[in-house]
Parts: sequence; C-alpha cells; structure tokens
Amino acid sequence: MDSPGRVTIAKGTALNASAASQARLLDLQALDAALDRLAHRRRTLPELASIEALGTRLREIDDALVTARTLDSDLAREQSKAEADVDQVRSRAERDQQRLDAGSVSSPRELENLQSEIASLGKRRSDLEDVVLEVMERREAAQGEIAALSAERDTLAGEAAAAATRRDEVFAEIDAEGAATSAARAAIVPDIPDELLALYEKIRASSDGVGAAALHRGRCEGCHLSLNPGDLAHIRDAAPDAVLRCEECRRILVRTPESGL
Ligand SMILES: [Zn+2]
Repeated sequence: MDSPGRVTIAKGTALNASAASQARLLDLQALDAALDRLAHRRRTLPELASIEALGTRLREIDDALVTARTLDSDLAREQSKAEADVDQVRSRAERDQQRLDAGSVSSPRELENLQSEIASLGKRRSDLEDVVLEVMERREAAQGEIAALSAERDTLAGEAAAAATRRDEVFAEIDAEGAATSAARAAIVPDIPDELLALYEKIRASSDGVGAAALHRGRCEGCHLSLNPGDLAHIRDAAPDAVLRCEECRRILVRTPESGL
C-alpha cells in the first residue's frame, strides 16, 4: 500500500483549466463533502431507528389489544348468559319454594318431587354461580392485560412523539445547513469550466464522493499515497493550467502552495 503513487499528465487531449478554477474545484469538493455528510446524517439519525422500533412495538401492542378486547367482550357475553341462567334457576326455585310454603301441595309424592327439584335447582344454581365467578376472574385478567397494554401504549406513543419532534428539529437544522451549503456551491460552479466539472462529477460518482484532491506535501489527499520524486518533478514541470490526475486513484490532483513542489 505504501508504494509511491504516480501521476498522469495527459498529453494531446489534455484538459486545461486555470490554476484559479482548479483551486475553486477544491472548494467545490469541500462543499460536496459537507453535503454528503449532511445527507448521511439525515439518513442515519438515531431517532429514525428509535421511531421505527417504537412503531413496530406499537403495532404489536395494537394487535394484542384487539385480541384482549375481543376476549373481554366474548367473556362479557358469556358472563351475561351465565348470570341469566342463574336468575332463571333462582326464580324457578323461588316459585317452587312459594308453592311449598303456601301448603298448596298435599300429595306426599308431589311434595317429594317438589323438594327434590328445589334441592337440584340449588345444586344447579351453585354450579352456575361458579361458572359466573370463573368467567369474572378471566374477565378481570383480560381487563388487567388491556390496562397494562394501554399504559405501555401511552408510554411508547409518548416516546415516539418525542423522538419525532427531535427528528424534525435535527432535520430542520440539517436542511438549513444544506440550503446554505447548496447556495455556496451554486456560487462556485460558474467559476469552473464545464468540462472540468463534468470530469469531477464522473470521478466523484465512482470514487466515494471525492472527485478532486489536493496535492499536499507530496501526497495525494484523495488516496493518501505519497508521490515519488520523479512524478513530483513531472508535476513541477507541468503547465499551471494542466489538469493532473493521480495515477493511483485517478482523481483530479490539484496543486496548492502546500503541495511541496
Ligand atoms: Zn490519489
């Protein structure tokens, strides 16, 4: 990796641009890098992952709430039915008891039947009351779950709203910075010849967003490789308006007062 880089100084079809417009290209590169960083920050904001995770959990809770509420209403119907059964058995037993108390039944056999029916109705009523109690307990559990899920839902919805507010605040900051940076970029573009700009954009698209790099103390700032003395000598001899390319990374290599030439 530490082999010296090489520099191409294209001849014939060589691209020329004034040293000033080459220097402007470095300014443009700095702004494009800033815009890329802003876009990356916008995409990878931690709040986005939080909001997504909270949204997933909220949907799960909503599903669980639908299930728990359906169970609760099923149990409510079951409870009403069991209570109606209890009422029915109770009234029938009361009627029987009234007939018994009224002394209107005189036949011993009929009397025995009536007493036996009252006893079995008592047993039936007790069984039905157990059913009512059991259903009520299950309902209580379902309602407890609904309450717990609703509380969790409120908490998470609050967290999601707070995260959305933070996200929007940061988005606003990023977008304001982006607008200022884009305006600065637009002011630079006219200083750069179309052909040089097109080359820069092409390289930038295929080289991690860096199309132009400074030659700094004998090193390409694009790939961070040092140039060998022969290449540095070539660069020293090159016309100031020659557009140079780093042989290693193919980026446009721009000379500056700190190039170490
Ligand atoms: Zn390079």
